[in-house]
Amino acid sequence: MVPLKVSASLGYSISYAGDKYLLRVKDSSAQLTDGAFTDKYAAELKPKAPVVPVTPVTPAEPGKPGRTVYLTFDDGPSATTGELLDILHKYNVEATFFMLGNNMNEHPAQVKRIAKEGYGLALHGVTHRKEKFYASPSAALAEMSGANATLKKLTGVSTTLIRTPYGSKPYFTKSFRDKVLTQGYHLWDWNVDSYDWKYKQNSDRIYNTVMDQVNKLKASKTNPVILMHDQKATLKVLPRILEKLKKEGYTFKLITKDMEPLNFWKDKR
Ligand SMILES: [Zn+2]
Repeated sequence: MVPLKVSASLGYSISYAGDKYLLRVKDSSAQLTDGAFTDKYAAELKPKAPVVPVTPVTPAEPGKPGRTVYLTFDDGPSATTGELLDILHKYNVEATFFMLGNNMNEHPAQVKRIAKEGYGLALHGVTHRKEKFYASPSAALAEMSGANATLKKLTGVSTTLIRTPYGSKPYFTKSFRDKVLTQGYHLWDWNVDSYDWKYKQNSDRIYNTVMDQVNKLKASKTNPVILMHDQKATLKVLPRILEKLKKEGYTFKLITKDMEPLNFWKDKR
């Protein structure tokens, strides 16, 4: 205890004991000694533990918004589907195949392998001919139903995931969508176009085209749905794209019927 005297004329005395959190001003009516006072009021005198602000934990691992990527391959199966599957297998990534009825009939073993290895099964129509597919809503539905019948024949399963030839805009208008989507189909376009059909001779161009769009989506925390094609030229650049996406922490997932479909019409059916 360190007793301190203030002006005697005021009749107060001050006691201070830092280790007991005591600063006591007392007059002649004080009945307890400082020792007894600190013992009696120890709980009140001791300051409360300071509140430590909780820092929110931001997971560094993949799976956060904008870091799930959906690879999609159109126009297959083809003579090089096997090599494509080998690459996907090597990098242990998922992908969804929008397949053409005619090509499924031509490469049945590839369709079976795609199904057996658990990749996503989806439809791209039968003919890929604009004037046939978009001739009428009924024609479009007939192409999807026909492709689905082929898929079912080869794998035992059917699908409700579709992508129309050349994408759904501008031709897959409301009357088409009403006809086809009311049959339970879900329409998927993309938000990253690799242009792998256009820059077949230029892997760098394909790579940069993909990554530029992926990086733009990252800023808005949007998951990329990447359009590529089941073709030979894509095999050359694919490992480089997969390595980069993995390094950046993306996880690769299948498109499923339970997801809200991404399409140019914002048709959520
Ligand atoms: Zn196509």
